[in-house]
Amino acid sequence: MSARGKLTELFRKFPGIGPRQADRFVLFLLSQRKSFLDELIREIGNLEEETATCESCFQFFTRQGGMKVCSLCANPARDASKLLLISREVDLQNIERTGAYGGLYFVLGGTVPILEKNPEERIRIRELLHIIENRKEVAEIILATNATAEGEHTAEYIENQLKPLEEKRKVKISHLGRGLSTGTELEYSDKDTIVNALKNRV
Ligand SMILES: [Zn+2]
Repeated sequence: MSARGKLTELFRKFPGIGPRQADRFVLFLLSQRKSFLDELIREIGNLEEETATCESCFQFFTRQGGMKVCSLCANPARDASKLLLISREVDLQNIERTGAYGGLYFVLGGTVPILEKNPEERIRIRELLHIIENRKEVAEIILATNATAEGEHTAEYIENQLKPLEEKRKVKISHLGRGLSTGTELEYSDKDTIVNALKNRV
């Protein structure tokens, strides 16, 4: 396959990108100066090298020295008694942008499809249990999966897994208030909706 064809295929793997857009990206690259292409290639290489996954919340962060956790998790001003669970990093960023939440996060890394036989392969449930087990200050776990069937199913699965901890440690498990209407994805919710959902958690 030609480089043009291969690149088109690669761009098609990006979220939300169809064949026509992928082709437009390639045409755009062809119209750019060599210096732009060199920079793009260099930064893609740097991205992998500079970025690590936070050992606490599992979001990506730019590595500084030997830091194993991101600046959010390392910030002593964050309320460590609250742990908010979201499916993807983009949801974390969306909630963080509202400025309405001062606790910590945990990125599940996906959702559990209904009828999935191995839910533990779909989300970071083992890592989550391990973190809560070791962090005695956690008093509330907020489930903030999408208000879709799969999101609800994921929340249900996690709640069942957390049951023993809930009883043993008296950890409160809450859900984002359904100011988020059914079918809503956090990623596409506006600031007010998220702030209300946080405030009215049940
Ligand atoms: Zn973190």
